[in-house]
Amino acid sequence: MQQVAIGIDLGGTQVRAALVGEQGTVFAQAEDRTEAAAGPERVLSQILSLAEQVLAAGQPLSVVGVGVSTPGPVDTIAGVASVVPTLAGFAGFPLKAELQKRFAYPVSLENDGIAAAIGEWQFGAGKGRENLIYVTVSTGIGGGIITDGRVVRGRKGMAGHIGHMSVMPNGELCPCGNRGCFEAYGSGTAFALRARSRALTCTETALGKNSAEVHSRDVFAAARNGDALASILIEEEAEILGRGFTSLIHIFSPEIVVMGGGLSHEFDRLQPGIQKYIAQWAMPAFNDVPVIRAALGQNSGLVGAAALAFLANMPPENQPGFSQTSKSRT
Ligand SMILES: [Zn+2]
Repeated sequence: MQQVAIGIDLGGTQVRAALVGEQGTVFAQAEDRTEAAAGPERVLSQILSLAEQVLAAGQPLSVVGVGVSTPGPVDTIAGVASVVPTLAGFAGFPLKAELQKRFAYPVSLENDGIAAAIGEWQFGAGKGRENLIYVTVSTGIGGGIITDGRVVRGRKGMAGHIGHMSVMPNGELCPCGNRGCFEAYGSGTAFALRARSRALTCTETALGKNSAEVHSRDVFAAARNGDALASILIEEEAEILGRGFTSLIHIFSPEIVVMGGGLSHEFDRLQPGIQKYIAQWAMPAFNDVPVIRAALGQNSGLVGAAALAFLANMPPENQPGFSQTSKSRT
């Protein structure tokens, strides 16, 4: 019988479910707008209903488990949500236990950046690698780290909050409350804000003065039409990302850095600048690490959540690096 896992990607705006095969094939998918303000009970029933939808699409199946990717930081070791900024009422909620009550299959829980890293590692751009860093550059910046063939989870399973590396004293305000985080400079949101403010003082640019209407995609479109300011903004963004990636490369020595998230739609435009920064500023032994685009696109976290369920279902001796973490989990 075909072995499958259910992957759930719980996000602040969308909750998605997929039925995924052992090779990462998505057999069925369903999604809904997250009722983020309605509290955990309502969100959990959304998850259950989506899981039922994708299961109904399949034929005789052996379901190994349910993997859930959740916005963090969440204590996935205890299975308890701390404060999830994008979801109301989740603070202190025993998310894993409540999910397990509702599912007949074993439930695994993972912070979203780590889940996406697992997806790219098992089924995407990092397949077969032992060391990789996944970075999502979107409204925020997040990520996950695979090192020596195992998932880096850290205390409470919260490792990989890459966006909150401090890069500037008293810098720009970050949604986390701190100032000067990498996210506050490198995210798609920060990029659009910078474009808006620079367009206001630039005499010749197609970006216009109606600043609220300038989004990341407009900057890339303007650059394609020869707009000088837009090109400068993109070069600066690539440099900011390159700087952050260089720090990560020095710390973890990955074989590759995998970039996903909304800004990776313009990966071809950003990659040369990112790579140039790394080539110039990483120490010589590190300066050839390639930055590549996430292969699973918007599905890194969704497929990664299912991959997590497959990994959790393996006997401990077969789990890549899972033996250590599963011990610390009990
Ligand atoms: Zn921050």
